[in-house]
Amino acid sequence: MDDFQVDVLVVGAGNAAACAALAARETGASVAMLEAAPEDERGGNSTYTAGAMRVVFHGVDDLVQLYDLTEDERRDVDFGSYTADQYLDDMGRVTNYRCDPELTDILIGRSFETMKWMRSKGVRFQPSYGRQAFKVNGKYKFWGGLAVEAWGGGPGLVDLEHKAALKAGIPIHYETAAVSLIEEDGVVRGVIARHKGRKVRIGAKAVVLACGGFESNAEMRTRYLGPTWDLAKVRGTRFNTGAGINMALAIGAKPHGNWSGGHAVGWDMNAPEFGDLDVGDNFQKHSYPLGIMVNANGLRFVDEGADFRNYTYAKYGAVILAQPQQFAWQIFDSKVLDKLRDEYRIKRMTKVRADTIEELAKKLEGVDEQQFLKTIKEWNEAVMTDVPFNPAVKDGRGTKGLAVPKTNWANTIDEGPFEAYAVTCGLTFTFGGLKISTEGEVENTDGHAIPGLFAAGELVGGLFYHNYPGGTGLVSGAVLGKLAGDGAGKYVAGKN
Ligand SMILES: Cc1cc2nc3c(=O)[nH]c(=O)nc-3n(C[C@H](O)[C@H](O)[C@H](O)COP(=O)(O)OP(=O)(O)OC[C@H]3O[C@@H](n4cnc5c(N)ncnc54)[C@H](O)[C@@H]3O)c2cc1C
Repeated sequence: MDDFQVDVLVVGAGNAAACAALAARETGASVAMLEAAPEDERGGNSTYTAGAMRVVFHGVDDLVQLYDLTEDERRDVDFGSYTADQYLDDMGRVTNYRCDPELTDILIGRSFETMKWMRSKGVRFQPSYGRQAFKVNGKYKFWGGLAVEAWGGGPGLVDLEHKAALKAGIPIHYETAAVSLIEEDGVVRGVIARHKGRKVRIGAKAVVLACGGFESNAEMRTRYLGPTWDLAKVRGTRFNTGAGINMALAIGAKPHGNWSGGHAVGWDMNAPEFGDLDVGDNFQKHSYPLGIMVNANGLRFVDEGADFRNYTYAKYGAVILAQPQQFAWQIFDSKVLDKLRDEYRIKRMTKVRADTIEELAKKLEGVDEQQFLKTIKEWNEAVMTDVPFNPAVKDGRGTKGLAVPKTNWANTIDEGPFEAYAVTCGLTFTFGGLKISTEGEVENTDGHAIPGLFAAGELVGGLFYHNYPGGTGLVSGAVLGKLAGDGAGKYVAGKN
């Protein structure tokens, strides 16, 4: 690869980068994308997702603008709705009201129009029946505000986005990692990149950083998230090492958001160090609201039914990491086995099964057997069996008198066969990053935009603190990607 020059250079090739590149191209700018990964690992974390997308919609008439539905689906499926107010409530509640108000308004207010724009570029969507709907009285009912996913999941999304980019005349340079920004007189004028071990100089009138957080960098994880985070598994790409954040900080960009926080979930205890595209996100184990979790001491340690999975899963990885030896077992009895999510039916799992609870106790590797049996006995006595069980609503069927209560969906664990799944912490992405303006420009520590530098996606700080509502990563990447690409394109046009 030789040095080259382009109007807008987008660093990264995931969802945020693709949306930025397509939006910049629409302004008439020439655009190129840099991808640190080889082609068969392209697309960053976006490729690893199942493609769930949290978007404002007011019922089925909005949804048909995003995907096709049959007459039967329109009539028989209860898709519900998800208003801007609900989205705002969810963002506020799960982030302890820390989310940046301006960015949150942009995310929510532009979510639907951005997804329609993506569809116009060739991206396809579908209803998320497999993970976000339960059958109640024979009919599908969606729960938790999530009714849309990318067609073909993350791989389908990235594939169609890259096809759209190539169709728009945007080249994607693989195995080309940006290492530093070229800055002259305070203005960003391109990047120095590494292509197969060789340095390349790529000149650009504007640069959009969309190259992910620092989740795949064990040193930065430990430095910012804290001790034991070096031991966490990474759910996605090995290429998001914080390079974009570091190169922006090096020229005076302002750090912003929850630098000690990240999105982390319960993840198969024996999963590899980084994600595996053959398994995608199926190492996750997210049906804990239907059962209980115990640690090495045989004790429960968290309210598994505090809220719908969408509002707890992203913070429970850290809770599991904090347990002795960083693991937990999820326990289910036969009453709920048919309701476990798809990811409980893959081959690569750390799973045990037994007909009696005593037999199960012996199979839970690393767990105090006697304490586990005591925990189960106390649990069964505490379940409010007089309240009806309904997994599609917050049913209020909790426990009475336990030190660690469960608020919803409590069931006795007394009917074999029993199944248990071992999980550890799987880190998805980090929350801390760069401060951007409402035009997608990266701001410096004085609060001014750095001329020629824009950012989008995971490396933007300020949206998520402590926790995250499921399906927001892809939509925030798309909305802020379009914002940054559009801003970069217009900045270049203003220079011409
Ligand atoms: C297993 C898993 C499941 C998930 N499920 C969902 C879901 O269902 N819904 C949802 O909304 N979110 C989900 N997420 C979160 C979601 O993936 C991210 O929030 C989102 O994809 C981030 O998009 P991005 O474009 O910012 O980053 P990425 O998609 O990670 O893209 C970053 C890109 O930058 C490249 N890169 C990194 N460093 C450099 C460099 N120095 N130079 C050049 N390129 C570089 C990477 O290779 C990659 O192409 C999931 C994440 C994981 C890991």
